[in-house]
Amino acid sequence: MLRVGLTGGIGAGKSTVARRLAEHGAVLVDSDRIAREVVEPGTEGLARLVAEFGPEILAADGSLDRPVLAAKAFADDESRRRLNAIVHPLVGARTGELMAAAKPDAIVVHDIPLLVENALATAYHLVVVVDAPVEVRVRRLVSARGMAEEDARARIRAQASTEQRRAVADVWLDNGGAEDAVLAEVDALWADRLVPFEANVRLRRPRPPV
Ligand code: ATP
Repeated sequence: MLRVGLTGGIGAGKSTVARRLAEHGAVLVDSDRIAREVVEPGTEGLARLVAEFGPEILAADGSLDRPVLAAKAFADDESRRRLNAIVHPLVGARTGELMAAAKPDAIVVHDIPLLVENALATAYHLVVVVDAPVEVRVRRLVSARGMAEEDARARIRAQASTEQRRAVADVWLDNGGAEDAVLAEVDALWADRLVPFEANVRLRRPRPPV
């Protein structure tokens, strides 16, 4: 199995790149999706959040009211630590399960926004960073996602910098231009780097004893 860590700042184009790699046949493991799944109604995760932060974090339909939780959990460092202590191990366990379920010859792409912030580069055979200039990302987040400009800028400021990402990147995808351009880069990455690299990883795997 080839493990690829895909990261980049908010609005840089991780999902766009991940979708294209999945079309080529990569197995996608999506951190944001897992983080939502582990706190869905009926999960141990949601029950533990309610026990920790109170029933007011539930919306009328029993699902997690994210803005209410965010207001409580991001109020101070200790609350944030309590939130992370519940959610991080559940996300880690589910991620491990999904990775373990992939076939030995799979190319697994882990879309993980906080790869750099959490110093996880060594967990992957290859780290792919997708990036675009801050102004381009702000424009996309405001126009495509309806985010307030100040929120977009604050989120970007809170994340790792381009320089920090550059320090761990094996592959750098520039998504500052048209979507077709980055998709062509992704196609080349798949054919020229990932498929041959996977074959290499497989060849280097120790043979089972006879
Ligand atoms: P997040 O960190 O919020 O999950 P992301 O890095 O996954 O974001 P995407 O969702 O892929 O980013 O892209 C952000 C927005 O910008 C989306 O609406 C997407 O359709 C759009 N977008 C991505 N790449 C381009 C491009 N090259 N040109 C124009 N729009 C783009």
